[in-house]
Amino acid sequence: MEPLNETIESTEKPKSYLIRTFGCQMNEHDSERIAGLMEADGMIAATDVETADVVVLNTCCIRENADNKLYGTLGQLKSVKDRRPGMEIVVSGCLAQKDQEGIRERAPYVDLVFGTHNVHRATDLLHRSRIEGPLTEILAETVADDYELFPSAMPARRDQGHNAWVTIQIGCDNSCAFCIVPAVRGEEISRPFDRLLAEVAGLAADGVTEVTLLGQNVNSYGRDLTLAARQAGGTERVRPLFADLLRAVGAVDGIRRVRYTSPHPKDLRPETILAMAETPEVCDHLHLPVQSGSDRVLAAMHRGYTAERYLEKLAAARAAMPDLAVTTDIIVGFPGETDEDFECTLELAAAAEYDSAYQFIYSPRAGTEAAEWADQFVEPTVITDRFDRLKVVLERSALAKHEARIGRVEEVVIEGPSRKDPSVLSGRTGQNKLVHFASAQSLRVGTYAEVLVTGAAPHFLRGELVSVTAAARHRTRIPVSAG
Ligand code: SF4
Repeated sequence: MEPLNETIESTEKPKSYLIRTFGCQMNEHDSERIAGLMEADGMIAATDVETADVVVLNTCCIRENADNKLYGTLGQLKSVKDRRPGMEIVVSGCLAQKDQEGIRERAPYVDLVFGTHNVHRATDLLHRSRIEGPLTEILAETVADDYELFPSAMPARRDQGHNAWVTIQIGCDNSCAFCIVPAVRGEEISRPFDRLLAEVAGLAADGVTEVTLLGQNVNSYGRDLTLAARQAGGTERVRPLFADLLRAVGAVDGIRRVRYTSPHPKDLRPETILAMAETPEVCDHLHLPVQSGSDRVLAAMHRGYTAERYLEKLAAARAAMPDLAVTTDIIVGFPGETDEDFECTLELAAAAEYDSAYQFIYSPRAGTEAAEWADQFVEPTVITDRFDRLKVVLERSALAKHEARIGRVEEVVIEGPSRKDPSVLSGRTGQNKLVHFASAQSLRVGTYAEVLVTGAAPHFLRGELVSVTAAARHRTRIPVSAG
């Protein structure tokens, strides 16, 4: 009988999966891990929902209308499942963590729901749901000493081989009044220093040249490691500072660029600025989310800094790194924001001279403190007006920053053909600026090249290829094919 079984197994078509990711980089990184687990389980990537055997919706509850988007997408998937009953639907991510059984109640045709603390169990749970029927598993918190729970410790399927995200910390110990992250991601847990370095060294050996260190509040990386070491009575230094990590990752052989996101302004330490300035591999880019320029609003948000303190930190960073690009996040229309508060935001945005900024219209997220302040919500027409006025200030400084780069030669890493014009290549500078340039030679994604900047727009630069500085080193993944 055994040979017959083998024959049956080898002709069985592998199941295919498709992951749709909503939300932030942390979620995209989780999706890479889910894909890695699925491929380690013998599944192959599908290109559309019509053919996928398993469709995963990796959800986010931070952005506006997240619930509507999820249930709209689930409604579309239901009609596909009605035609192909064998298709499995999985919902994961922070909206799953927040809504728990609510998803299965509203969409009983969903096969599996899991949250943010058990991504590592994705395929085990999928197997269980095939045997036991529809399943929901939401863990209340991460198990602190199980470092395999960190997304980066799991197998990954990366879409682009020259760069990689590395999770250095999960959760957040802050309590910003607008943010649902602490409720859905739990308390801050840092990944041990040596394991992180080992992972980066492994990535570099595979040809990765650029890493982005990920966490909700990277500047407080290591705080919990120090505490744990002290509680254990340890005397050895645990090298807990984020600044130490930046230097050590930059020193890994083969790593040419180190980025990180997101830092919290209140935790940006002089040591971090110094490490950035003294480590050439750490990119000259600081994303420092300010959220508002009004001290009154910042206090209501529980941000832990004033506008003046924020600008002082920015000035210190620019003094240490004269060619530093600075970007930010700003929320418009936080509950209770007055015209005077908003004027302060305009003033701060002008003073900070950002290279670019993400503007968000305040959106109440159920479960956050600010969502309870409905009597202070700002009129939508007022918000729209403020949003447009802020955009003018932000785009003015972005264009000025970009125009100042015309005539300079910048090193870019090639990201591929431009989305709008495939005859043009796009690359990214250390400052995280996109440069579009013509090239007679076809250059592989991940190649480093020098480009002369010849033109500027608020959101990109134009240039001409000068020379190739380093070839891409990563291996091209050979697509797995069925049968
Ligand atoms: S620092 Fe504030 S905004 Fe950032 S994840 Fe934590 S609570 Fe949310």
